Amino acid sequence: MYIDNQLLANMVDEARPISSEGRLVDYIPALKKENKDNLAVSVCFLNGEFFYAGDYLEKFTLQSISKVITLALVLMDNGEEEVFSKVGMEPTGDPFNSIVKLETNRVSKPLNPMINAGALAVTDMIKGATNEEKWERLLAFVNVLTGEEEVTYNKEVADSEFNTAFLNRSLGYFMKQHGIIKGDVEHLIYLYTKQCALEMNCQDLAKIGAVFANDGMDPVTGRQLITRDVARICKTFMVTCGMYNSSGEFAIKVGIPAKSGVSGGIMGSVPRKCGIGIFGPSLDETGNSIAGLRLLELMGNEYKWSIF
Ligand code: GLU
Repeated sequence: MYIDNQLLANMVDEARPISSEGRLVDYIPALKKENKDNLAVSVCFLNGEFFYAGDYLEKFTLQSISKVITLALVLMDNGEEEVFSKVGMEPTGDPFNSIVKLETNRVSKPLNPMINAGALAVTDMIKGATNEEKWERLLAFVNVLTGEEEVTYNKEVADSEFNTAFLNRSLGYFMKQHGIIKGDVEHLIYLYTKQCALEMNCQDLAKIGAVFANDGMDPVTGRQLITRDVARICKTFMVTCGMYNSSGEFAIKVGIPAKSGVSGGIMGSVPRKCGIGIFGPSLDETGNSIAGLRLLELMGNEYKWSIF
């Protein structure tokens, strides 16, 4: 397989025009300011080599991509049994912020940790005596994964979502009533919106994708940052529910574990090959980066990345 920055730049140029067919996320006010035509990518191979194209050092917030990271932390802290007593393992055909299955399922637990209800239940399980301690714990974990000390969050985006997160509050209070959420719902929404506003660039995201691709081991330092089992579980969720309601189509067209966020970020993880970080804020109907998807299709076909 041959990859270089020029080839990646060509693929970015080929994928970028489709951005005009998408739209920026509209329900988080601070995210409406992004440049719709942006498209950038970084790939981190397991020998620690990076490739990139576009404005790959521009920062963006992780939004739902953060759900995979929190899940890894919480699974390592609490164990599978406890985590999966609160959240299921099944994909849903509903939008990521839907409340409907919480009421119709007999045991009122969210179907999986990649939808908002499930992610809220997972964030509620981060260990720490106070919200601040929980946040510090999550942030320390993110910094270990990226290998960058200074990753933090975008306060404007976090505040903007916190002030308008009425649907997430409904999910939180519903689950509190049913014993899924233990902590204070307002504190949880505060922590969750900070988590979603974690901010980094494509290179940092590619590095995290590479840790998952490498069965939890840091490809740069050789340290085991996530247990093999937890890395496997996270990648499986990325395949079954990582790309919203197009996870099935994405599995057929690209076929790699990936998670996207409504900021237009996508983290990809090609087992035993590389991690990918993409940013392209123009979204398709389901909430995925429209040019990011096209780019992943081009790259996946060129480099035969499908795991299937
Ligand atoms: N912070 C967003 C929310 O909870 C994340 C959604 C997403 O990226 O899918 O609505």
